Amino acid sequence: MKPKKPFKSFGPMGLFVGIIVAVMLLVGLSKLTEISQSIGQISYKEFLDKVRDDKVKSVEVSGQFVEGKMKDGQNFQTVVAERPSDFDLFEKHEVNYSVSVPSVSTGGWLVFMVIGLLMLLGMLSAWYLSRQMKNGGAGRGGPGGGIFNIGKSRAKMFLPATIKERFSSVAGAHEAKEDLKDIVDFLKDPSKYRRLGAQITKGALLVGEPGTGKTLLARAVAGEANCPFFSVSGSDFIEVFVGVGASRVRDLFEQAKKNAPCIVFIDEIDAIGRQRGVSAGGGNEEREQTLNQLLTEMDGFESSKEPVIVLAATNRADVLDKALLRPGRFDRRIEVPVPDLVSRQEILKVHLKKVKAVADLDVKKIARGTPGFTGADLANLVNQATIIASKKNLTEVGMHEFEEARDQIMLGKESKTMILTDEDKKITAYHEAGHALIRLLMPNETDPLHKVTIIPRGRALGVTHFMPEREKYNRTKEELLANIAAALGGRAAEELVFNELSTGAYSDFKAATDTARAMVCHYGMTDALGKRVYLDTYDTKGGYSQKTFEKIDNEITRILDEQYDKAMQMLKDNRDKLNKLSEELLDKETLYASEIYELLGIEPREDLRLVE
Ligand code: ADP
Ligand code: ZN
Repeated sequence: MKPKKPFKSFGPMGLFVGIIVAVMLLVGLSKLTEISQSIGQISYKEFLDKVRDDKVKSVEVSGQFVEGKMKDGQNFQTVVAERPSDFDLFEKHEVNYSVSVPSVSTGGWLVFMVIGLLMLLGMLSAWYLSRQMKNGGAGRGGPGGGIFNIGKSRAKMFLPATIKERFSSVAGAHEAKEDLKDIVDFLKDPSKYRRLGAQITKGALLVGEPGTGKTLLARAVAGEANCPFFSVSGSDFIEVFVGVGASRVRDLFEQAKKNAPCIVFIDEIDAIGRQRGVSAGGGNEEREQTLNQLLTEMDGFESSKEPVIVLAATNRADVLDKALLRPGRFDRRIEVPVPDLVSRQEILKVHLKKVKAVADLDVKKIARGTPGFTGADLANLVNQATIIASKKNLTEVGMHEFEEARDQIMLGKESKTMILTDEDKKITAYHEAGHALIRLLMPNETDPLHKVTIIPRGRALGVTHFMPEREKYNRTKEELLANIAAALGGRAAEELVFNELSTGAYSDFKAATDTARAMVCHYGMTDALGKRVYLDTYDTKGGYSQKTFEKIDNEITRILDEQYDKAMQMLKDNRDKLNKLSEELLDKETLYASEIYELLGIEPREDLRLVE
């Protein structure tokens, strides 16, 4: 969700309007004082009393303004209520009176104010129009816009009192919250860290799919630290004019430094942070200048001052310029994952608090039925279900409404992410369990397991993550073979359990084939082809004879077949473990290595844990 009630700074346009208003007030005021200072200025009551006392000789009435003469010759002025009864009083006391239409000269300052107001209105609407045009009529907020502050940052600033989010508002995302706690701690008491000379992060990168709660987390950091929050999107910096982005960055950080300690949140940082000099075509100069300015600003914070912490969000960390990730810049990377089953349940609970749902709502069942849903999707689900219930005039939202809402949302989501049928999910669970189990059964040859998930992500149905223990430049033949077996373990499990083949294993085969080809053609690891290098044999003969090409091809196939059979045999021998792991995966969707070791009763490889 994006910010609601921005605190706006006024900028030059505001200043201009302010000056006009001030001048108008001054002129109006001076006119009033002028009247009150002139001799004979009397109050309405005094005036009526004098009339009653027969002291008034004549009056000229013009609207509410009265100028008159006393019988003793003194002139006076007053402002009166327009009451016809006054004229009866004049008659009665023989005051000589005349009435005229209020003239321009009498109401001069009023006219001035009217003209001023018209000018003001004209300018305001011109400003509003230019802003609308710039935003394509979308009415996006933010101070400025328009020609007056093109170089001003479009960041919105939120004062701590308006930031309601806390870590408790963010369900799931436990690791991300843990990582961000340090930053909160630092913002609250920077001296605690500086005393010993600790270098604390200036920036952290929140990486995750849209809707996973990155903005929410950033706001929660500001909320927890009770400090101001500046929010801006990477695309807000970019304008057609070169230099504008850089000046907006400068302006943003100027404001931030004035309000430190504070958080600066840059959403969609990839809009400015893409690797420099790679994308095709021109028009990058502006973006690069903007990026350079951002780097300069981040390098420029002085450690003695109150801290400014920059949090940036992206779902394309891979395209970011490496310079952004260097120490002293965005040197922390915080993953904000698509929620797993348990997290989905927690997120649903957070949002259910805001609506009236039936007491026995099966939250777990809803969570189970929404794999791949992000936090934003789940918030939307609760809202949609509530709308459906309202339309039906129900007093509480029930399971049925959630199902309807889910179906609606899924129809819309289908193109974006894959929604798995139960059958798909089951196949995926066995497939991933197959990969994982082969690795577990060959602990010495394969890299240690990190986690296994069947939450679809992009085009992959599931993923088995493993981690290289150390930077390995050298791999033994056994290690390469074991990696091939592990890559083929997914398909082997599918064949073993379902006895049918799916298309989901293409990338596994590709990886296994690449490894086998490298063994044959680059590393001289087979007797049949000897200890030499064969270049360019991918899909072409690469200049080798038909016979050599066939030999290479056969050799690759032999390696793959052997490893496939080996994987199959291992899975057959450990069918109980395979079933157990698959079922647990279906239940939990994501399993970490430690959970799997415990489940299957396998000794953990604690000494091999990679320090993340
Ligand atoms: P992002 O910045 O990653 O695109 P947002 O932070 O804007 O996502 O999330 C949009 C909305 O989705 C939030 O305002 C909140 O209502 C809901 N949401 C997302 N993640 C969570 C979560 N972990 N817990 C509770 N609500 C969440
Ligand atoms: Zn696979």
